[in-house]
Amino acid sequence: MLISAGRVVTPARVFAPGWVLVEGDRIADVGSGVPDRPADVDLPEATLVPGFVDGHAHGGGGASYDTGSREDAAAVTAAHLQHGTTTMMASLVTATPDRLLSSVAELAAAADEGVVAGIHLEGPWLSPRRAGAHDPALLTDPEPALLDALVEAGRGHLRMVTLAPELPGGLDAIRRLTAAGVVSAIGHTEATYDVARAALDAGASVGTHLFNAMRPLHHREPGPIAALLEHPDAYVELIADGVHVHPAALRLAAEAKPHLFVLVTDAMAAAAAADGDYRLGRMTVTVRDGVARLAEGGAIAGSTLTMAAAVQYAVQVAGLPIADVVRAATSTPVALLHLDRVGALRPGYRADLVVLDQDLAVQRVLHCGRWVT
Ligand SMILES: [Zn+2]
Repeated sequence: MLISAGRVVTPARVFAPGWVLVEGDRIADVGSGVPDRPADVDLPEATLVPGFVDGHAHGGGGASYDTGSREDAAAVTAAHLQHGTTTMMASLVTATPDRLLSSVAELAAAADEGVVAGIHLEGPWLSPRRAGAHDPALLTDPEPALLDALVEAGRGHLRMVTLAPELPGGLDAIRRLTAAGVVSAIGHTEATYDVARAALDAGASVGTHLFNAMRPLHHREPGPIAALLEHPDAYVELIADGVHVHPAALRLAAEAKPHLFVLVTDAMAAAAAADGDYRLGRMTVTVRDGVARLAEGGAIAGSTLTMAAAVQYAVQVAGLPIADVVRAATSTPVALLHLDRVGALRPGYRADLVVLDQDLAVQRVLHCGRWVT
């Protein structure tokens, strides 16, 4: 299938016009200009981008990964697929050790089936002072036996763990995870600048939803935000929904790290679903006008974002260049999470692509070489 379009966004540049040749579930070729034979699908007004990759999401379409059920996992992934996300990481909020072990085992089976690309544990090793929507009663200090058991339960599918490095045993946990090939993320943390630096030295490679649920930047104690932003290799996640970060804060991070900022949704069940009451782990979350808050206390509790809405916001409201934004929604999270041959319009990669209209709204989605919308 030969698809031509007004713009085609590849990792290196934007072809205008350009084309993509799909064979089976793979991209066979990509090129600039008008193709040398008539296209099967001609989209002169559209922009073709790779299918989005969401490295941090808890739910969507009314369902949650946190329940640890494969049916729920499939429902979440299907809901986000309709909005152009073709690769999903399953994020789990803080829960009891037994619950986490069983959810990780079940989601590893979902990963075997290709329903999710991997598992991200957010907690239970988080700062009680920056708990956000995590149940404070279940937060604990990192403990090697549980860590090893979770890595084992994941059978290679546990790809990322968010933790607060200042907790007793925090830096050891980062070393242990890094040695096991799991990405360590700094988040829900009171870490000082020095502790955050030590965490990066120990192998941490990303900041979980930069600015949110962490010690804020202060000029005499710049905390984890400055440590992450000035580090040459550290990635930073950002929730570009207009609620979690001001557009100026988004620009600051994106312009500091054009190749290392990652758009994530941190979506909960209400993403791609209606307002109302939802569960996030053991917590009740009320969603009104698309903003999710804890029923008790009112803290922001994840987002109702889709990757498509995040891309649209980052370009149209924050004013970031489309090539940078698309990279942050596709190839950059792939590099962070060590995923294989997804997230770019490049020969040999999985044929996942999104057709955006002139307003950058999703028109059609191709997943594994097949149109799903
Ligand atoms: Zn969080």
